[in-house]
Amino acid sequence: MAIEQTLVLIKPDGLTKSLTGNILSRLSETRLEIAAARIVAVTRELAEEHYAQLKDEPFFDELINYIMGELHERRRVMALVYHGEDAIKKVREICGDTNPEEADPRSIRGAYGRITTSGIYENAIHASANPEDAEREIKLWFRPKEVVYRIYPVQEIELEEVKRLDWA
Ligand code: UDP
Ligand code: MG
Repeated sequence: MAIEQTLVLIKPDGLTKSLTGNILSRLSETRLEIAAARIVAVTRELAEEHYAQLKDEPFFDELINYIMGELHERRRVMALVYHGEDAIKKVREICGDTNPEEADPRSIRGAYGRITTSGIYENAIHASANPEDAEREIKLWFRPKEVVYRIYPVQEIELEEVKRLDWA
């Protein structure tokens, strides 16, 4: 079995329903390690990039609104990287099926997800589906410095005239 990393997002419905603690507890059953974590106010650009593979789906626009928090009072998500043996499959299993009504009721999505009247699956959590998605998604949501164990190669790049926000 390979050491893998996988991207987890606690979606805006999970934050609004105060499920962060419960979801992290469930994920700890996997015995994987958290290698990175941050709270992110999701821009449209990031949302569309994250779900780029679904851009032709009829639910795409609604999905973008959902992940940006437009449908909830919490306009943010919690992003994490889980690290360890077989991480991708272990996390997907505990998440459950995409459709919360079909998901095992003991899974995270089965326990906490719902289908809205407009038909979107508010399933509380995202988890990378395969190694290719995991690598793409982790690199989209995190900089190398933010991840404590690194399984993907890094490089040093030189920047000219960088502006950054600092404490005043
Ligand atoms: N989704 C939805 N309706 C569908 C399929 C997907 O609302 O028929 C939403 C759901 O929130 C899901 C996300 O779109 O988690 C991404 O879809 P994907 O097929 O990648 O499922 P996942 O990998 O999240 O299980
Ligand atoms: Mg997916």
